[in-house]
Amino acid sequence: MNVDFLIVGAGFTGMVLAERLSNELGASCLIVDRRGHLGGNAYDEYDDHGVLVHKYGPHYFRTDKPAVRDYLGRFTEWRPAHYQILAWTRGRYWRFPINLNTFEQLIGRPATEEEFKAHLASVRVPISQPANSEEVIVSQVGWELYEMFFKGYTQKQWRKSPAELDASVCARIPIRTNRDDRYLRESFQAIPAAGYTRMFERMLAACQRTMVLFHADYHAVRQHVSYRKLIFTGAIDEYYDYRAGVLPYRSLRFEREHFTAEQLAARQAVAGKAGFWQPALQVNYPNEFDYTRIVEVKHVTGQTCDNTTIVREYPLDYQRGGEAYYPVPDATSPRQYQAYAEIAARDPHVYFAGRLATYRYYNMDQVVDAALSLAEQIKADWRAGARRVA
Ligand SMILES: Cc1cc2nc3c(=O)[nH]c(=O)nc-3n(C[C@H](O)[C@H](O)[C@H](O)COP(=O)(O)OP(=O)(O)OC[C@H]3O[C@@H](n4cnc5c(N)ncnc54)[C@H](O)[C@@H]3O)c2cc1C
Repeated sequence: MNVDFLIVGAGFTGMVLAERLSNELGASCLIVDRRGHLGGNAYDEYDDHGVLVHKYGPHYFRTDKPAVRDYLGRFTEWRPAHYQILAWTRGRYWRFPINLNTFEQLIGRPATEEEFKAHLASVRVPISQPANSEEVIVSQVGWELYEMFFKGYTQKQWRKSPAELDASVCARIPIRTNRDDRYLRESFQAIPAAGYTRMFERMLAACQRTMVLFHADYHAVRQHVSYRKLIFTGAIDEYYDYRAGVLPYRSLRFEREHFTAEQLAARQAVAGKAGFWQPALQVNYPNEFDYTRIVEVKHVTGQTCDNTTIVREYPLDYQRGGEAYYPVPDATSPRQYQAYAEIAARDPHVYFAGRLATYRYYNMDQVVDAALSLAEQIKADWRAGARRVA
């Protein structure tokens, strides 16, 4: 087979690049993915009971970038989403992220914003420049709230103390003194109305001169394909056969549990409405159990059915060749990645893009934005190269 671009990975990065390059350059593209579906980690599917679930962990789309929203909006309608998150500890649900409602639960009576601010001022640890995730939280809310909501969760998630992790890990989570309990800050919060997979199917249908091969690993197919440029969205250490070491990741195990309408009837007092198992989309378990969170994505997909599926998420150590989910945000990993970035800079026929190839935790909108920019760069390189050939 002979193509202009061989694209490894059918996730957001690979799909955006295929769509842009095939439609704007008229280039031929072959997308290969070792998995059996489009969408990478954002893939969703109907489980055996007909409930729509996110196979690789819940994906909450949000953005402040109208260009990203509008670009994806060509392939999907949007369903507005309220991503509500609670925490479970000390035998009850707590409002989260920390806000005035959480404070009222803590003291067991109504309070004002001024009272909460005064409380925080009395318990916060004076640290002018927090250097790690523990310091970033105790300098805002003190030890009690840190230990209730952050310490154990972070320890489970990363198998490291928050004191060992970059300040940005816990700084992502807002802390507010008013009643605003939105977990995410971005102005546009919505999910594809018919699901992520349907959106990717529409993207593929819009591509010209593009083929997809599933269950196809790059290393197995590369000798059967001739191509002018390679776009690689897999793990960069794997691409270079780990010659500069294995990059550190955290992995995850997802455990699904299904509940029938009859089983849910007994939980209606807990869930607050019929057809649901828990009262919010996501419940964090910072201190109890081995899992970090339980997600019931039906709260935001808008699917109407009287049964449901919940997913428990267990953090796992990553083994070379396993599912790499989160780059480890500690002091040494950027240096380890840098060794690969330097090798890649000397490889002019390969574009490395996306979360695994650039070893970066990207949200979906960031990955789409980066892919749209890269498409412009590739188009310019391509046209310059074409002119040189002519
Ligand atoms: C648990 C979890 C939850 C998340 N939740 C959110 C969220 O709520 N909101 C948000 O904005 N973002 C979220 N993200 C981030 C989001 O998943 C990424 O931004 C996005 O999926 C990155 O797209 P990508 O194309 O770069 O990578 P991926 O989606 O990982 O796609 C890469 C593809 O390449 C394939 N591949 C790799 N190597 C090879 C090879 N050698 N040969 C063939 N195929 C290969 C893989 O099978 C995969 O399908 C979450 C991520 C995780 C891990």
